[in-house]
Amino acid sequence: MSNSQSETKITRRGFLRTQAALAAAAAVPMPALAAAPHTKSAAGVDYYDKLGVQTFINAAGTYTNLSSACMPESVQEAVALAAKKWVRIQELQQKGGAYIANRLKAEGCCITAGAASAITMAAAACIQAANNCRPIDIPRLIGTPQYPKNEIITQTPYGYDEGMVLCGAKIVVVNTLEEYKRAFNENTVMTNHENAAEVVKIPVEDWLAVAKEHGVPCHLDAAADMPPISNLWTLAEKWDLVCFSGGKGIRGPQSAGLLLGKKKYTDLANAMLPPVEGVARGMKVAKEQLVGMVAAVDWILSQTDEGLFKESNDRLAVMSSMVKDIPSVKTRVIVPAVANHYPQLVVEFDPKVIGATPREIRARLATGSPAIEINPHTGSTRASQGVDPMPNALVVTAMLLFPGQDKIVGEQLRKVLKNPKSVGTYDPAVKLSRG
Ligand SMILES: *Cc1c(COP(=O)(O)O)cnc(C)c1O
Repeated sequence: MSNSQSETKITRRGFLRTQAALAAAAAVPMPALAAAPHTKSAAGVDYYDKLGVQTFINAAGTYTNLSSACMPESVQEAVALAAKKWVRIQELQQKGGAYIANRLKAEGCCITAGAASAITMAAAACIQAANNCRPIDIPRLIGTPQYPKNEIITQTPYGYDEGMVLCGAKIVVVNTLEEYKRAFNENTVMTNHENAAEVVKIPVEDWLAVAKEHGVPCHLDAAADMPPISNLWTLAEKWDLVCFSGGKGIRGPQSAGLLLGKKKYTDLANAMLPPVEGVARGMKVAKEQLVGMVAAVDWILSQTDEGLFKESNDRLAVMSSMVKDIPSVKTRVIVPAVANHYPQLVVEFDPKVIGATPREIRARLATGSPAIEINPHTGSTRASQGVDPMPNALVVTAMLLFPGQDKIVGEQLRKVLKNPKSVGTYDPAVKLSRG
């Protein structure tokens, strides 16, 4: 049971009370509410409980399998209102995209079904631009010689390449600047680079300059690279296209994302969105997600990096103060350089003194009551996204917590570090989620 749920319920109830009060004041009946059989369930049933789906406090970070962030209240309210009316989806796509482009000082914006979908949309738009074909033709590119221009150069193969292959792209992986220069030919339509790539062998300035010589657009995967908030506008000044995940730092709906950049390409991407039957037909963004994405951009622009960092640091200080007197425990705060650039608490300890490994502690917290997920980098033996290995440490984040949850996490950390077996269960055979 997290505070988030009770807070959500209070908000929704408050909202319905307001609606009821307004209707009573206007002395008109509310036929829509009375007639809608789903009204009651939408307001009251906790479907996580009903389905037996376990909830937990997310002290891990914006991990996909951990359902990333909970939306801020203003975003939740905008989504709830959006769910009560019909709109023409293409009009909402266009106006929502234009609004975000304006707010983020980008030439163009396409609201996508997440950053992974934005990568597909970028590839599809660039293939379309290079071959001068219609959006409707994109799915037919796959495996046909009819549209020969389909090569995308990437520096590092990564988990999202399939999103480009999906629209008929041929991926050309390069490792050196020489290979990169040689990889361009008349079929090259785009280059793709991951901002947080661990092995960066080709300097970004060279990457951009060589592509520019060939007139090939460059896409940057910056899915998890906010904060700093300014990345939302500075990156698109340098790159032709940039994608962000909507559900990570921006805290919008998890199935929304942004493709920002040159209007020529974002217009092509927008023209491919459902109901158009093409590569994006299965990447529909519902009205609730479209509005949620717009509201989340408004929300993040109402924040400051300093404010967000202070909030995290204050919460991590609460947790740290609750564990640092435990024998062998040492705490420090780190901030990864590019992706997930927010304060994270490293709780180092001697497993022999504590009587459990970091891996065991993580499993016990996840199965304890309340259940708490901490960062999967806990107990790691390899560096990841610029963070050193943490073989003897827990990694804890506070960015996504609701007020008061810092203390709950601190209490559980204290309990489990003082007496590991008193919290949750541990089965070494059970594989822990990568996040
Ligand atoms: C999370 C992530 C994605 C995918 O983002 P979604 O919004 O979940 O589709 C893509 N690339 C990188 C580098 C990411 O971290």
